[in-house]
Amino acid sequence: MRRFISITLGLALLLSLTACFGPPVDPDTVQESIQVIAMDTAMVISTYGSRSTAAAYASEDLIRELEAQLSRTEENSDISRLNAAGGETVEVGWDAYCLLDKAALFNAETGGAFNIAIAPVVSAWGFTTDSFQVPSQAELDLLLPLTDPRGVSPARLDDMKFTASLEPGQSVDLGGIAKGYAADKLADLFVEYEIPRAMAQLGGNVLAWGDRPDGTAWRVGVQDPARPDEQNAFAGILNLKNAFAVTSGGYQRYFEEGGKTYHHIIDPATGYPADSDLTSVTVVAEADVLQKNGVMCDAYSTGLFIMGEEEALRFWRNHRQQSQENAFELVLVTEDGRVVVTQGLAESFTPDEGSGYTLEIVS
Ligand code: AMP
Ligand code: MG
Repeated sequence: MRRFISITLGLALLLSLTACFGPPVDPDTVQESIQVIAMDTAMVISTYGSRSTAAAYASEDLIRELEAQLSRTEENSDISRLNAAGGETVEVGWDAYCLLDKAALFNAETGGAFNIAIAPVVSAWGFTTDSFQVPSQAELDLLLPLTDPRGVSPARLDDMKFTASLEPGQSVDLGGIAKGYAADKLADLFVEYEIPRAMAQLGGNVLAWGDRPDGTAWRVGVQDPARPDEQNAFAGILNLKNAFAVTSGGYQRYFEEGGKTYHHIIDPATGYPADSDLTSVTVVAEADVLQKNGVMCDAYSTGLFIMGEEEALRFWRNHRQQSQENAFELVLVTEDGRVVVTQGLAESFTPDEGSGYTLEIVS
């Protein structure tokens, strides 16, 4: 566990001096920053406000609690117990129940692309254990029938008691939504601790809470998928206030074998890494504590990556027509060198001139 306390000596000195002589320091500019390695991800959470330190440490505790319940590699997590239950019903906590329940909705919305029951196939590719391999077609043919999402049955017995079961042989993987869910819970925590502004980077899941201390928008880089290992190699920058921005892309986790690249986002229709015409999908939505958009952005980013450009844009247009709630916008980076930005982000997205992409704004 590593915590980096970033209140500098200078700032501490300034505070103590101004306490005696100078004008009062604006508590909203007091900052705490911590790094948390959890959920297979290096996370950085920076909080501002008079309770920034308590909030940052509570954020870490929250993330670790969620990981302990939701990870399928933690032996005693709710999800591991469910996966090991061989079809029996097990008791689970609220968070696991909530995510299993939401996952069914995201599966239906994305036409089956987002599917937590893909777990056995993800494992066959070695992404759960980092022992990567290309599974045989015979193995995939055996595993694909186990990925029917209708076999996942969460149930609410009463307000305090929740259970879940799978069909024998099935397992679930919440890797495509757990960080988005954690981001939603961080937003709740920031309200509880009266945090006016914060920046939480949970890998590809970003929560830009409020605005920056100078009142301007947070700057959230959209990584250039063609240069995954370069820091500050962006397709563009999103200028965001109070928003979730969640990116999925094959470049985030992959291995190479026989001169081919295989990434971690599996198309449930084939059992193979999605053969997408997109190299990344970023989903942006308002950080509204009532709407819980973080988990939605996370599910959609994974699902829309699999669906590809045309279907993703159709999905966005349909959603916009049907409902004002849970509104979201997209930045799609395409394999053929374009950055496609939906209308609502036209003002917020600054393309990186040097990246070589052609910008398209779509409505
Ligand atoms: P993300 O980075 O949010 O796009 O999630 C990718 C992770 O979700 C993978 O590492 C898997 O754990 C899991 N995953 C892979 N394929 C799918 C899928 N089709 N539906 C849901 N989750 C998936
Ligand atoms: Mg996701």
